[in-house]
Amino acid sequence: MSYLVFLGFFLLASITTLSGQRCIARNIIFPATARVRNVGRVKFYLDPTGTTIPFYIRKRIFTKAFDTWERATCINFAITSVKRGADIVLQFSRVARNIPVATATAPPTQVTLTFDSGEIWSTTPNNPPQNSLDLESVALHLIGHAIGLPHISNTLNVMNRNLVKRNTQGNPITKTSLRTADTNPAVTKYGGPC
Ligand SMILES: [Zn+2]
Repeated sequence: MSYLVFLGFFLLASITTLSGQRCIARNIIFPATARVRNVGRVKFYLDPTGTTIPFYIRKRIFTKAFDTWERATCINFAITSVKRGADIVLQFSRVARNIPVATATAPPTQVTLTFDSGEIWSTTPNNPPQNSLDLESVALHLIGHAIGLPHISNTLNVMNRNLVKRNTQGNPITKTSLRTADTNPAVTKYGGPC
């Protein structure tokens, strides 16, 4: 499996390691300035199609990921039922073989986070399917990119390139909590919790 991030004009290759997915987005693509236009209300839209994962489960998981970032910064995220005008669109789509399990396209207008519908996504930390990727963990990472955050070096961090490491049973280890090193760049850009 591979992982790829497409941001603006940057198409980035991907690699797979024995430990799992490795995001190869280059930090140079993330500007120092804020990407979010209105931190008081960042609207996200969930495409209702493209996957067999029930909508209410996706809504719960993605909302939880947005809430995690919201608790760490002054950004307020709100779900919208109108795709047009949404700041961030999350969708499932079948992508070509050997290319991405998840992608992101960047602002200035609308960020689209695409999750490969052909991937095995884990929607629960309890007893996840073999060789699955934890949906909340990947969503948390991609939302970080969507608000303009780069990678950091500590593998324990959500914003580390290693998205999901597998344990000896082949199951994913989730990364669903932000650490100070994850949140510091966001706080610098947008301010702390408010
Ligand atoms: Zn990344």
